[in-house]
Amino acid sequence: MGDVSFVSPVHVKGSVVNNGQSLELSVHVEARLSSHCSRCLETVQEPLAFDFKERYSHPSNEGFFAADTNEDVIELQDDYLDIDEAVKDGILLNLPMKFLCSPDCPGICPHCGKNLKNGRCDCQTDNVDPRLAILSKLKGKS
Ligand SMILES: [Zn+2]
Ligand SMILES: [Zn+2]
Repeated sequence: MGDVSFVSPVHVKGSVVNNGQSLELSVHVEARLSSHCSRCLETVQEPLAFDFKERYSHPSNEGFFAADTNEDVIELQDDYLDIDEAVKDGILLNLPMKFLCSPDCPGICPHCGKNLKNGRCDCQTDNVDPRLAILSKLKGKS
């Protein structure tokens, strides 16, 4: 995972429903990410948007927490709903595994370093996997 930064403020919209036993929080998060194409290293910007739900209840509500279906309920601290951590965790969970400037980015030539998006280079071994190229070099030496 390379470097990732936000190019705009993270927008968080949410609503809370009090159903008597717990508070049900629904949040929509939107942000714009900047990183580098994992093939050609060009800067890439990509939108990030996801929804998540969290349930909170007061620690004094012991019977409620004991129920199997409520294991994931978060204890309220000081009657105060702090969703910073939940939003941060959600962003980490929803980050793309890798960034590509385009789905068919050809990447950089392992031989001359040219960005193949801007046209083919003159290397004849264009289509050779860089790992195989190393093997063939080794063979040549022995
Ligand atoms: Zn690329
Ligand atoms: Zn080349």
